[in-house]
Amino acid sequence: MKLEKMNQIFLDTAFVHAGGSDEELQVAQYFQKECAQLGLEASIEPFEVQMANIKEAKLYIDGKEIPCKGYKNSGSGEVEAELYYLRNVEDAYSLKQCKGKIVMIDTIIRHWSFQDIFEHGAVGFITFDGNVHFDNNDIDQKELRAVVGAGKKLLAANINVKDAVEIIRSGAKTAKIVIEQDEYMGESRNVVLDLPGEIDEYIVMTAHYDSVPLANGAYDNMSGAVALLAAAEYFKDHPHRYGLRFVWCGSEERGLLGAKAYCKDHADELAKIVLCVNIDMIGPVMGGFHAVCTTENKLVSYIEYMANEEGFPLSARPGVYSSDSTPFADNGVPAVSFARLAPGNTAAGHCRYDTVEILKMEQLSDDIEFINKFTNRMVNAKQMPVGREIPEKLKTELAEYLLRKRPGKK
Ligand SMILES: [Zn+2]
Repeated sequence: MKLEKMNQIFLDTAFVHAGGSDEELQVAQYFQKECAQLGLEASIEPFEVQMANIKEAKLYIDGKEIPCKGYKNSGSGEVEAELYYLRNVEDAYSLKQCKGKIVMIDTIIRHWSFQDIFEHGAVGFITFDGNVHFDNNDIDQKELRAVVGAGKKLLAANINVKDAVEIIRSGAKTAKIVIEQDEYMGESRNVVLDLPGEIDEYIVMTAHYDSVPLANGAYDNMSGAVALLAAAEYFKDHPHRYGLRFVWCGSEERGLLGAKAYCKDHADELAKIVLCVNIDMIGPVMGGFHAVCTTENKLVSYIEYMANEEGFPLSARPGVYSSDSTPFADNGVPAVSFARLAPGNTAAGHCRYDTVEILKMEQLSDDIEFINKFTNRMVNAKQMPVGREIPEKLKTELAEYLLRKRPGKK
């Protein structure tokens, strides 16, 4: 794919397109159209997602209103209580202090922290994001994920970190959260494209195309979505023994919802997928390339050898990557995720600064070329060399990542 073409895709999709929104649909249709221009017919596969329309969200600290965004799907109502800053989320003493309080948690709420404060009687919670050094006061639109809440709800507000610091500095005593919202079921979608091979087993290539509500998501993850299109363009004219299926996943940022829906809706076809090649965040100006293999260890060594042969520096490791590869691996499909991880202060993610400016088209092109070389070897194998067995240690990591098992204390 030409550099100008890549750049054009970033310009064409330079708007927020969060999971389940009309803008996400617009980007799905954009990729469908791009496939059509290659002479390929992609389909859009919808799936249900929880949606919410916030009508009112207010936070008062010691009676003073603080700019906030209410958590979607955290319920409606009003709660006023003593404020408690839970600095240490796992120690027993701190958790006991949560009873009857509105709890402020450092940055985001995680699944087990939510369970803990809920069980310890918290009546609401406050999180924050942004950066004290940024010259904006952006507040991300958060949601109480279905998987986190699982029927339990607490009214919750997200604020900018600058306000959070001031609240704690001032020794504020009370908090009040008021939220009114409509919660309903809506629709997100995956875009699916098939390039049949000589046999009916295939490699699935995945990349999410949704963004978080604050970002255009050029790096995270239009870069991967472009790579998928470039791979489709390449392999439509190059022989491949195994088939290829491309899945542009929706709602990844909301908890890998697209990949999970795909694995559920295509459960009876998963046995035919020999490998999942996932791409999430490539092509930044700075940073090293990583391959995370939720597979037998041999693939880690293979990729390292191949990188040396090709003169393409990378670091490969066994592990579970927080992206669309994970539901596939959890369903027994060996999976590898590729990413070029920029130092955080050169390419901040999940904020308004995730634009095409933090990328370099030449780097993106090199990253795509390496991924295509790897996929080309696999897709033309006489026998898929990657074994299907996923090591026990990684199965445990998957269970922890997918919240079936609480990780032990480190
Ligand atoms: Zn991502």
